[in-house]
Amino acid sequence: MLGEQSGIRFADVTLRLRLALGYALLFLIALALLEVALYVVLQGALEDEIDNALRDRAMQVERALIITNNDLSSERLSSDIFVLSPTSTGHELTAPGIHLRVIGLDGQTIAASSNIATRFPTDEDALDRAIRGRSITESVQISDTTVRVLYWPLRLGGRVRAVVQVGESMHTTERTMSETRSLLLIGGAIALASGLGGGWWLTRQSLRPVQRLTETVAGIAETGEFNRRVPQPEVHDEIGQLAITFNDLLDRLQLLLDRQRALVADTSHELRNPLMVLRGNLELLGHELPSTDRIEATTESIEEVDRMTRLVQDLLFLADADADSAIQHQDVALEALVAAIAEDAVLIATRDDGTREIVLEANDPIVVHGDIERLRQLIWNLVENAVRYTPAGGTVTLALRRHGPVAELTVNDTGIGIPPEHLPHIFERFYRVDTSRSRALGGTGLGLSIVRQIAEAHGGQVRVRSTLGEGSTFTVALPVVAD
Ligand code: ADP
Repeated sequence: MLGEQSGIRFADVTLRLRLALGYALLFLIALALLEVALYVVLQGALEDEIDNALRDRAMQVERALIITNNDLSSERLSSDIFVLSPTSTGHELTAPGIHLRVIGLDGQTIAASSNIATRFPTDEDALDRAIRGRSITESVQISDTTVRVLYWPLRLGGRVRAVVQVGESMHTTERTMSETRSLLLIGGAIALASGLGGGWWLTRQSLRPVQRLTETVAGIAETGEFNRRVPQPEVHDEIGQLAITFNDLLDRLQLLLDRQRALVADTSHELRNPLMVLRGNLELLGHELPSTDRIEATTESIEEVDRMTRLVQDLLFLADADADSAIQHQDVALEALVAAIAEDAVLIATRDDGTREIVLEANDPIVVHGDIERLRQLIWNLVENAVRYTPAGGTVTLALRRHGPVAELTVNDTGIGIPPEHLPHIFERFYRVDTSRSRALGGTGLGLSIVRQIAEAHGGQVRVRSTLGEGSTFTVALPVVAD
């Protein structure tokens, strides 16, 4: 409620404003620290200078007395002091100049410079301590002016015989300090203003590419034009990197979308044929038909429904593999799996035209880590293809060998082979060398893309060698479980 009333909530404050304010705050703190340090050092130096001048003057008095054989008589002393300090002008507290007074141990003034006599107080405590041999420096306030005062024990013949009180008005120092204060304040304000402005400008310059990037991405999200790319800044800084990453993401997104579109188009195309056949047969069945025609129409319809079912199953399998979530991981005894598939293959190896021989060469136990159902599908697809594209009398050989850390499964056939120009494409979805032949033999055009997907999901790969008219060999390499 309070936040709403005040108009600005923290979340509404832009990054730019936050950066500029943060920058200004840091700048202000650094500036203030610097100015305070400068001020304190300057003040200390000026005070030190005054204190040194006071001590010098006290020592001059001491030396003058030693020259005059410790003559503390006031006339003699007064003339010395007259030489050492200025005469009265009436402006002692505002004009530079040293004021001197020699005080006896009884507290009585023995001699004093003319400019001090009336206005200079004596601090009894400091005087006492000076009499006891310590030199005391203190600041006292006279009227509006601070005066620095030194109480210096005058040692003559090894004893403290009197105290020299030396004072100097700090008026000039105070004026210097006050001018310095004003200068620092004005200079600080100017520096702060330019720091704020500079910070604002700098953050605007630095964040401009981010703004452009946001606008472009928002535009892409709004229009769905995934072929657009965000502008690439010339400098390869963090924002340049972000732009590159965005563009990589858009590339991938576009690729996925294109694949998705192609899959939908291909699937529709694949479904159109069987649906048309089904519709024709259903129309036929709606009429009076001789029983042989009726049986033929029904058989053909069932075949088409089977084809569509296989297609849908393959598509579901691919979608599952895409999601990558359904993969189980367990140890799979590959030789047992290959042997079981070879047995099943015998059942499909005999068709109307005759029989193909199934040969199994898998003796060594080999364990891989993966999903047994998917691996079964992978091997079955290869064996089914080998049987499908091998004429009667041919041979299909399943072999399993181990090469170090890799299990190598080969499915070799003595079939029709694949023309070399088709080899690079046969693992693509719906790619067929001979579409009508594949359809007639019950192929969906998805078998090999499923093979590749499963092999890659298991950290493996698949390759093919083929000679037209002689046969093909598909090799799947999978990492084995370390012994
Ligand atoms: P399909 O369902 O058509 O068999 P696949 O993806 O399994 O689809 O295979 C793609 C194409 O590769 C097939 O249509 C066929 O032309 C060719 N092919 C696959 N395996 C063999 C093989 N063992 N011998 C000859 N051609 C093959």
